[in-house]
Amino acid sequence: MGKRIHNFNAGPAALPLSVLEEIQEELLDFKGSGMSVMEVSHRSKWFDNVINEAVERTGRLLNLGDDFHVLFIQGGASLQFCMIPMNLGLEGKPVDYINTGTWSTKAIKEADIQKKDVRVIASSEDKGFSYIPKDFKVDEDASYLHFTSNNTIKGTQWAEFPGSGKVPLVCDMSSDIMSRPFDVRPFGLIYAGAQKNIGPAGTALVIIRKDMLKRVPDDIPTMLRYTTFAEKNSMFNTPACLVIYTTNLVMKWLEETVGGLEKMERINKEKAAILYDFIDKSGFYQGTAAGDSRSLMNLTFRLPSEDLEKKFVEEAMKEDMGGLKGHRSVGGCRASIYNATGVDAVKDLVAFMALKRKKDKGNIKKSQSDFLRGYQF
Ligand SMILES: *Cc1c(COP(=O)(O)O)cnc(C)c1O
Repeated sequence: MGKRIHNFNAGPAALPLSVLEEIQEELLDFKGSGMSVMEVSHRSKWFDNVINEAVERTGRLLNLGDDFHVLFIQGGASLQFCMIPMNLGLEGKPVDYINTGTWSTKAIKEADIQKKDVRVIASSEDKGFSYIPKDFKVDEDASYLHFTSNNTIKGTQWAEFPGSGKVPLVCDMSSDIMSRPFDVRPFGLIYAGAQKNIGPAGTALVIIRKDMLKRVPDDIPTMLRYTTFAEKNSMFNTPACLVIYTTNLVMKWLEETVGGLEKMERINKEKAAILYDFIDKSGFYQGTAAGDSRSLMNLTFRLPSEDLEKKFVEEAMKEDMGGLKGHRSVGGCRASIYNATGVDAVKDLVAFMALKRKKDKGNIKKSQSDFLRGYQF
């Protein structure tokens, strides 16, 4: 077997090693079928068990009770940007959004294209999306209030979700679903592209409150209706079998190995604290997100110059640490430390960062410290 590296990719991202081993083990003969899970019929008892288990585990992990449907819809989180206003926008009622970065902006655009009455009730664009807005008023008249719980690119996260009264919350949780427990009751719909925190790319997990289905109009195409997926247990057509299977194994790992979302959150907080504490005390690295808005999943930071950042990413790779380059739209560095990235990986990263600082600190020019000053809050 080849070596495995510490994987800090933003998505597709690290999966638990034990899950990958489990896949390997039953790849050729899935549950005595004599076939791999990629080869069995999605109408077979074997796959029925897989998807039902995935739905049940999601329900248990998030305490969904009986009020929600758990769906798997292809097209990633990006198709949800379009399906949400199409299905859940009410006649004569505006659709409200909070804009905290690239992904929220894309979600807003899809509602705009459909000529919905879009209102952006809060935004952090004035400071380059480096913080989570606090002062805004939710209008009870809205169809829903959409927000992005974790901003994968800018490294910010809602520590507490916005209160919205009777207006159902709709949330893009692509990059922090299953990273912490939360109260699902205010949510009309939660969605997440699987490839960040719960599985491989190829499907979105969609959790929809049952009463929301009454809103779905009759005049939209079959494959774009939530009712189609709810009525057919996500199998109106052939689902992304391998993704759902892997996601189920990740959920099993969360339940049985990690021990639930409270425990997962504790570990995630510990990992983020190790890295942020080091960055803050380093006098060399600079976090780019406002202190009270920092993400526990995607930690964004800068070095004193773009040249040093480039070398940092390259040298880290030589030490078997991958994925530390910031998103191409913002530059800098980013360590994505999702559920499957262990405390050991974070400690190794900090050790590497400490060594780099020691090596490079003497060489910083004055112009480079000016470069950093642009990122202070
Ligand atoms: C990655 C990401 C998306 C896009 O997901 P796709 O599955 O590629 O469409 C949307 N929102 C957030 C917050 C993301 O991190």
